[in-house]
Amino acid sequence: MAIKRIFSAGGIVLRKVDDEVKVLLTQHSGHKGWEFPKGHIEIGESSEQAALREVEEESGVKAEVLEKAGDIEYFYFDSGERVLKKVTYYLMKYLSEGEATTAYEVSDMVWLPLGEVDDKLTYKGTKEV
Ligand code: ATP
Repeated sequence: MAIKRIFSAGGIVLRKVDDEVKVLLTQHSGHKGWEFPKGHIEIGESSEQAALREVEEESGVKAEVLEKAGDIEYFYFDSGERVLKKVTYYLMKYLSEGEATTAYEVSDMVWLPLGEVDDKLTYKGTKEV
């Protein structure tokens, strides 16, 4: 069976709140998994640009990239097609918060202390990254 490849990018956004570092997690409105905000890399866009755009569109958070955090890959089925998705994540620093333009893609968002992130994330791959 042919495999469709999809390339996505996302952000692990860090924010200092009262001397504590917190991390942004979003809940996917479709499959309800908790993850770092992410989405497809558009044509002509770098993975870094896509990650910043997706974070801002889904959560309203403007951030800047600190460094690449790592890649993950996973398989799933979409309309009978086997898909292999690669997601490149960037460590980001929170700058400001505004309106999310694709908020419907996210059913919830939370800023969690570093120590609580692992338990909240749904997928093994994102825990590792
Ligand atoms: P987005 O628009 O945010 O890129 P999407 O709606 O295209 O997302 P995914 O979030 O990639 O889709 O989810 C597609 C399928 O893969 C779902 O069945 C989901 O449960 C599963 N999935 C999502 N993230 C992971 C992961 N990190 N590891 C394994 N499976 C995952």
